[in-house]
Amino acid sequence: MNKKHNFYAGPAILPAEVLEGAQAAIREFGGTGLSLLEISHRSKAFEAVMDEAGALVLELMGLDSNYAVLFLTGGASSQFYMVPMNFLNEGERACYVNSGVWAAKAIKEAALFGRVEVLASSESSAFQFIPKDFAIPQDAAYLHITSNNTIYGTQYHRWPDAGDVPLFCDMSSDIFSRRLDFSKFSLIYAGAQKNLGPAGVTLVVLRRSLLDRVQRKLPAMLQYRTHAENGSMYNTPPVFPIYVSLLTLRWIRNRGLDAIEAQNLEKATRLYGEIARNSCFYAPVAGDDRSWMNIVFRTSRPELESVFLDRCKEANCVGLAGHRSAGGFRASLYNALGLESVDALIQVMREFERLHG
Ligand SMILES: *Cc1c(COP(=O)(O)O)cnc(C)c1O
Repeated sequence: MNKKHNFYAGPAILPAEVLEGAQAAIREFGGTGLSLLEISHRSKAFEAVMDEAGALVLELMGLDSNYAVLFLTGGASSQFYMVPMNFLNEGERACYVNSGVWAAKAIKEAALFGRVEVLASSESSAFQFIPKDFAIPQDAAYLHITSNNTIYGTQYHRWPDAGDVPLFCDMSSDIFSRRLDFSKFSLIYAGAQKNLGPAGVTLVVLRRSLLDRVQRKLPAMLQYRTHAENGSMYNTPPVFPIYVSLLTLRWIRNRGLDAIEAQNLEKATRLYGEIARNSCFYAPVAGDDRSWMNIVFRTSRPELESVFLDRCKEANCVGLAGHRSAGGFRASLYNALGLESVDALIQVMREFERLHG
């Protein structure tokens, strides 16, 4: 197979060794004589997978057992309602920052359960920056932010100081892309399919003490407590996506978050550098808020947009069309994407400038 340079925003590129490990496990898993797709989730072999995956998440985050690690279904989008359902009680208010489409969806769902205050928004500027410098009411149930705005290519590089208010974060598109003080956060969630694994599982990490705050009567599956008390095995968990996520977590641990961060910064610096240098392209987001994961750029010759995308395809660079709501181009540079892929894209941009600049 001629492997392409995969710039898709999600589902997204996975490390080659993870794909190989996943293939091997489909054939036969852990000496069981069965495929991973056939084994019981209650088997010793799979319990070991869950234990190791949970432990690796805590290790990579530098957190201890005061936090619960959950592997849930329903995507990050289900966290948009599960968070307020559990943690926005009658008479309380929850605070949100509206930094893009995903944040706005989270806000809409929260409003179903109680009072929501949007403390800051960049919507009137087409979400081209991260809203900053707002006051956080200290009686808020929580403050919800989106660390990386996948569609617009903005990313937090400085966290709001939430004081005593629990900080909740949707990290779907930049989880484990850099070293962070994860203890700043009381709840973190991420759909796996961007930086962690295949679609089908969502990582949730939350402070166990939060579980005492839940007042609403909820169906078992919609309570974090159920999943925390049952090690994410209250029902059959998504066995295969969890296993592939474990393989990715091992890959991240073996490389180290520092090395991953350094390479992500190098990839983003190279690409933003070329966008700035190249007379045919520009980046709509300003330096301070630029994402290292999803690099959004446009051409000064919009009539040639499809020509550029065709040239990318010919050079085996795929997934570069901007989100359908944003247009232009987007290069997603998730952890598993190598420098050589960024260099291949830069080559296409240079040729484009030679022909059309
Ligand atoms: C992709 C994405 C989502 C939606 O994830 P699903 O798993 O498809 O529900 C939510 N938030 C962010 C930041 C995303 O990038």
